[in-house]
Amino acid sequence: MTNDSAEPSLLEDFLSEDTRRVLHATWEVVRTRDGALLDPLVAALPRIRRATDRLDLGGALHSNRVSLEHALDKIESYRDKSCWCASYPGLSFYEPPKEERAGHVRILATSEPGWSMTFHCACALCGQEFDVEQGDYHYTWWKWVPRGVKRRRRTT
Ligand SMILES: [Zn+2]
Repeated sequence: MTNDSAEPSLLEDFLSEDTRRVLHATWEVVRTRDGALLDPLVAALPRIRRATDRLDLGGALHSNRVSLEHALDKIESYRDKSCWCASYPGLSFYEPPKEERAGHVRILATSEPGWSMTFHCACALCGQEFDVEQGDYHYTWWKWVPRGVKRRRRTT
């Protein structure tokens, strides 16, 4: 991955109070594992939270606010030196085959393929294993549950 410094900074996007730009930055953070992208955001987290607090981000079937909160949680998790896989339980958009193609996880086993199925995955970095449930309600979602860890840090 390259860090293209010519791109408008994600921090500027987050602080822009422009819904489209805030969501762009949100999805960049959700997708990235590039510390160079996240480093400038760590110190600015309080400013980002203030700037985005009252924005109406919309979202039809899935609230964009949830995605933004997830992105900010991911920045915190990065700051706290957690493994990247700590983000998986926090959002329903992490697709196991995609994560495997990216080299982020290994799929150890699956149930019979279908719209409703399960995956047993292991993080390629730290080895944490997850049971992943795939379901479909208006859109396909994936629920990641770490093995041997409390099911969730907090309810949403
Ligand atoms: Zn991990």
